[in-house]
Amino acid sequence: MKILVTGSAGRVGSFVARQLLGEGHRVRGFDLKPSGINSPEFDEVVGDFDDAAAAQRASNGVDAVLHLGAFMSWLPADRDRLYRANVDGTRIVLEAAAAAKVGRFVFASSGEVYPENKPEFQPVTEDHPARPLSPYGVTKLLGEELVKFQGRVSPMETVILRFSHTQNASELLDPTSFFSGPRFFLHPKIRQQEGFGNALAVEKLKALDIGEEALVLTRNENGRPFRMHITDTRDMAKGILLALTHAKAVGGIFNLGATEPVDFADILPAMAKKTGLPLVAVDLPGAGVWYHTSNARIRETLGFEPEWPITRMLDEAVSAWTRRQT
Ligand code: NAD
Repeated sequence: MKILVTGSAGRVGSFVARQLLGEGHRVRGFDLKPSGINSPEFDEVVGDFDDAAAAQRASNGVDAVLHLGAFMSWLPADRDRLYRANVDGTRIVLEAAAAAKVGRFVFASSGEVYPENKPEFQPVTEDHPARPLSPYGVTKLLGEELVKFQGRVSPMETVILRFSHTQNASELLDPTSFFSGPRFFLHPKIRQQEGFGNALAVEKLKALDIGEEALVLTRNENGRPFRMHITDTRDMAKGILLALTHAKAVGGIFNLGATEPVDFADILPAMAKKTGLPLVAVDLPGAGVWYHTSNARIRETLGFEPEWPITRMLDEAVSAWTRRQT
C-alpha cells in the first residue's frame, strides 16, 4: 500500500511513518516541516494543509490517508492559525483525498471533544455528548463532522479516532517537553501558569520554589490529585494501524488510549523516588483534571491491546532522564 501520513514531522506521525516503512509499505509525508525520514520508499510534501495544490500533490496516487497532523495550542493568540490548520486544513486534505479516490481516511481527533476534563459521566465512552470547552476541542469536533460528511458523500471509507493524551516515554521526565514539562515540573509549570495569566496559581507555585528543579504533584482545590490518561506513542500507533486495515473500523468512532488512567498520587512519588528530585504538592483553584476514558470499543471491535502502561513508560523515562544528567 502507499499511505499518506500527515503530521509526518510530529510525534505520532513520524513514528507511524517509520513503522509503515518497516512493514514494507510506501509512505508519503505531508507536514509544514521536513520529517528527516530517509528511505527510498518515502517521499514528502512540505506544505500547509490549507494549501489545496499541496494537499492534491500529497493525495495523488495514495491508497489511504492517516490525517495525524494538526496544530495544538491553547493560547488565544493562536486562534486563527488553529482553525485554519485543523478545520480548513482538514476539509482541504479530505477533499483532495476524495478527489484522488483514496480508499480509507483515518482522522486523529481528541478526547477534548467530550471534554474529558469535565465529563458528565465516567468512564467516558464514545456515547458521551461531544461538548468541547476549548477552541482546540471545537476544531477537532468540526474536523470529525467534515470527515463524517465526506464519508456520506464519497465512497471513501472513514475512521475517527479520539486520541488520549499521548507522549513518547522519553518525554515524561523532560522538563523541556511541551506537555510533560509543565505537567510534572515546578519551574515549567510556573512559566505555563504565568502564560495563562493564572495569578493565584503562580503565587501558590512560587511559594513552593526552593530554587532548584522539583517535581510537582498537582491537586484540585479540595486536595484531590489529578488523574488522566497518558498513552505511549507506540500504543497509539498500534491503534492507528488497526484503523487503517481492519474491516470493522469503517465508519467507526473509537476512543484510542491506555486502558487505565494515571493517578498523579501514584506516579509523582514514583518519579521522585527514581530520579531523586524533590517533590512538592500544590492545590490549584478549580475542579482540576480527573477522568477515566473507556477504550472498550476499540479493544472489543478491533482487538486493540495496549502494551505500554505508565509504569513501563516510566522505566524508559528514567533511563532517558539519567542519560541527560551525564
Ligand atoms: P505534534 O505536534 O507532534 O505533530 C503535529 C504535526 O502537524 C507537526 O509536525 C506540525 O508541523 C504539523 N502541522 C501542524 N499544522 C500544520 C499545517 N497547517 N500544515 C501542515 N502540517 C501541520 O502532534 P502529535 O502529538 O503527533 O499529535 C498527532 C495528532 O494527535 C494531532 O492531530 C493531535 O491534534 C492529536 N492529538 C494529540 C494528543 C497528544 O497528547 N499528543 C492528544 C489528543 C489528540
